[in-house]
Amino acid sequence: MFHRIRRRAMEPTEAQRQFAELHAQMMGQVPPGFGEPTYGPEPTPPVAVVDNFLPPDLRVPSHDQLDGRMMPWAQPLVLDGEMVACAECGSYRDWLVLSTRDEIWLRCRAGHQQQETRLDTAWYNRTSGPADATHATFEDCLRHLGH
Ligand SMILES: [Zn+2]
Repeated sequence: MFHRIRRRAMEPTEAQRQFAELHAQMMGQVPPGFGEPTYGPEPTPPVAVVDNFLPPDLRVPSHDQLDGRMMPWAQPLVLDGEMVACAECGSYRDWLVLSTRDEIWLRCRAGHQQQETRLDTAWYNRTSGPADATHATFEDCLRHLGH
């Protein structure tokens, strides 16, 4: 898919090059001013074509891209003898635990997120196994973990 799109995107460049050569030949043969109105619009620079064909979120870090890690946490999470529940919907299991910028966040099935200050990066590192996959975006990672 990628190569097919790219090849198609390159075709105007080849056509533009041939047109430019033909144009140059004509400029040498035709008296100045003859036929100029028929040149048509300026060809689009090929660089612009290549820039536009990648989806925006593959080129620029998006606002929801977290520089961090996450792991699933299916069982209830008990801290200081208290079971952690989502402040929004009250769910208490099937969490995703997010570790980012020295903060631990919990994300419930419904997508609510809340910071858990009783946990820290050291806890995360002790608890999580080695990452089994890396993902370009936060959303990719959520999908990978089934959320
Ligand atoms: Zn929730």
